[in-house]
Amino acid sequence: MDLTFDAKELAFRDELRAWLAEHPAGEPPPGEDASFQWRRDFQRRLAAGGWAAVHWPREYGGRGATLTQSAIFFEELGRAGAPLPANVLGVLLAGPTIMAWGTEEQKDRYLTPIVTADEIWCQGFSEPDAGSDLAALKMRAVRSGDEWIVTGQKVWTSLAQYSKWCMLVARTDFDVPKHKGLTYFLLDMEQDAVQVRPLRQITGGAEFNEVFLDQARIPDANVVGGAGNGWKVALTTLMNERAGLAFFLQIRLRQMLDELLIAAAEHRALDDPIIAERFGELHMKAEVLRLTAYRGLTAVQKYGQPGPEGSLTKWMWSEANQQLTQFAADVLGPEALQAGGRWSYELLRARGNSIEGGTTEVLKNIVAERVLGLPKSR
Ligand SMILES: Cc1cc2nc3c(=O)[nH]c(=O)nc-3n(C[C@H](O)[C@H](O)[C@H](O)COP(=O)(O)OP(=O)(O)OC[C@H]3O[C@@H](n4cnc5c(N)ncnc54)[C@H](O)[C@@H]3O)c2cc1C
Repeated sequence: MDLTFDAKELAFRDELRAWLAEHPAGEPPPGEDASFQWRRDFQRRLAAGGWAAVHWPREYGGRGATLTQSAIFFEELGRAGAPLPANVLGVLLAGPTIMAWGTEEQKDRYLTPIVTADEIWCQGFSEPDAGSDLAALKMRAVRSGDEWIVTGQKVWTSLAQYSKWCMLVARTDFDVPKHKGLTYFLLDMEQDAVQVRPLRQITGGAEFNEVFLDQARIPDANVVGGAGNGWKVALTTLMNERAGLAFFLQIRLRQMLDELLIAAAEHRALDDPIIAERFGELHMKAEVLRLTAYRGLTAVQKYGQPGPEGSLTKWMWSEANQQLTQFAADVLGPEALQAGGRWSYELLRARGNSIEGGTTEVLKNIVAERVLGLPKSR
């Protein structure tokens, strides 16, 4: 694809840059709840300026941006040091899934409050015995009149503690092959039958949770894409997850690398040829990641939605980010390992990168089978 921006794209970028300069996000306050509230406030300001979901159609609060403009948006957000919108799972996953599969009533009801961050969303896919093999999930939903009664457990549910809604996949038919018995629901988290318990991570933070459902109720009107069609709908969510973040993540990687370069210079470490070589390697990886992310746009243009190529950027990014944060510890020494410090947080948080949003092993399978067309592993 052509990587030079045309006049319209440059105008979009300049308008956005000016807006971000006028409305800086500022520094996050200490504390997880306060920091989330800060991101929520920032999203509200983005929404007021028409910037919260640029790739969405205007009728739902978006800007009708092209794919390239959307890529520019995430790059510029990262470049400005601004955070991802608080409702990132709503904007990148739930919204596009509802647009692709939802009824008109669902689109009218759910989309706008996602953009304004009035209703936060989480993703209830993983279970204790169903992560990579999502289709093995056991959460049970049984129809009762015009609603479904749902019981079971989800785990690693990011942002559940702040969420009003959950994209929930549950088993509705136990007598058919496992992929065919799933249904995709929109679960109202604000009911007594839904319990959210935080899970403390290696960083000390608790971004994700266990979620227990004990006869939770979901109206039939909150089924997305029809009963028994949950696997296909969930795939739409997963494809959007891997593709959407690529531009933001690659620019953050570049920024961290630049920061580390300055810190290494201050430590007079750049004369060491081994360190210089590792900087060169990471520079190359950051550049390849950027170009691959843009290349992924071509697939979206071709098929109308993100393709399996998004798995490649997610895999490359997690590997590069883990290398970069480990390299920071090697270059800066004990300073980078102090509890509560910037680099120690990045180092510990990066461990999860090769698990969240699909493990590296699973992404490699996808790339092998669906991008390269190699024989199936199973
Ligand atoms: C920070 C973070 C946030 C998360 N947020 C959410 C969220 O909001 N919502 C949600 O639903 N989930 C979330 N997850 C869960 C995440 O999607 C799962 O952890 C992931 O899909 C892996 O599943 P698992 O943990 O059950 O591991 P398993 O699937 O049990 O995998 C265990 C190991 O086996 C390997 N493996 C499994 N299958 C294969 C295969 N076919 N070929 C080769 N190797 C294989 C894996 O790569 C891994 O190394 C989050 C995870 C993290 C780390």
